[in-house]
Amino acid sequence: MSKGKLFVFSGASGVGKSTVLKTVMDQRKDLVFSVSATTRAPRPGEVEGADYYFISRTEFEDWIARGEFLEYDEHNDVLYGTPVGQVNEKLERGNVVLDVEPNGAFNVRKSCPEATLIFVMPPSWEELERRLRGRGDTTPEQIEKRLARARWEMDQSVHYDYVVTNDRVEACAAEILKIIAEKAD
Ligand code: ADP
Ligand code: 5GP
Repeated sequence: MSKGKLFVFSGASGVGKSTVLKTVMDQRKDLVFSVSATTRAPRPGEVEGADYYFISRTEFEDWIARGEFLEYDEHNDVLYGTPVGQVNEKLERGNVVLDVEPNGAFNVRKSCPEATLIFVMPPSWEELERRLRGRGDTTPEQIEKRLARARWEMDQSVHYDYVVTNDRVEACAAEILKIIAEKAD
């Protein structure tokens, strides 16, 4: 039996998941972030092994063949996956946080029905666009792809256990901390 609980976060790219999760994790040291593997290039400031494992498509396909993913998904021409060994090992040490899109979240729920699924909404569509464009690390073409996908992702929020809105980072983090306390303490 593992010690920890699994918390799965989703929300459109640019909604502020990384920002809010950083605030949440600064305040709960028992939370361990599950680092995904991806075939996309690192953004400025992203750290190998902390934000993602940045691997080639060939390596990613090898990991799939070896059954090393709890779930994986391809979207916007990029592969993303959750390494299963790492999640199990982290669950022995504490409560684990996953940042995955909805297909991944629903696949995690199939393997781990006790996982808590939390969806992060933007305060408005205009604000989501502003944050995504403001991050300034993606091409206009990639931004349009991410926005098109965001509509579908937000439609999936009805299937989540909780929906929180990231209007102000601190308020959103506080709401998430309350949910985690209810489930994990
Ligand atoms: P995600 O991880 O969901 O893709 P990020 O955490 O990278 O999103 O945030 C996208 C951009 O929005 C960043 O520039 C970040 O500073 C900004 N941001 C995040 N949360 C808020 C907020 N509550 N209000 C204003 N800007 C925000
Ligand atoms: P980004 O490229 O902005 O870091 O992430 C894009 C999207 O990929 C986000 O919606 C994020 O939640 C999702 N994502 C990140 N890691 C994984 C993963 O391991 N599996 C799945 N299914 N999605 C992921």
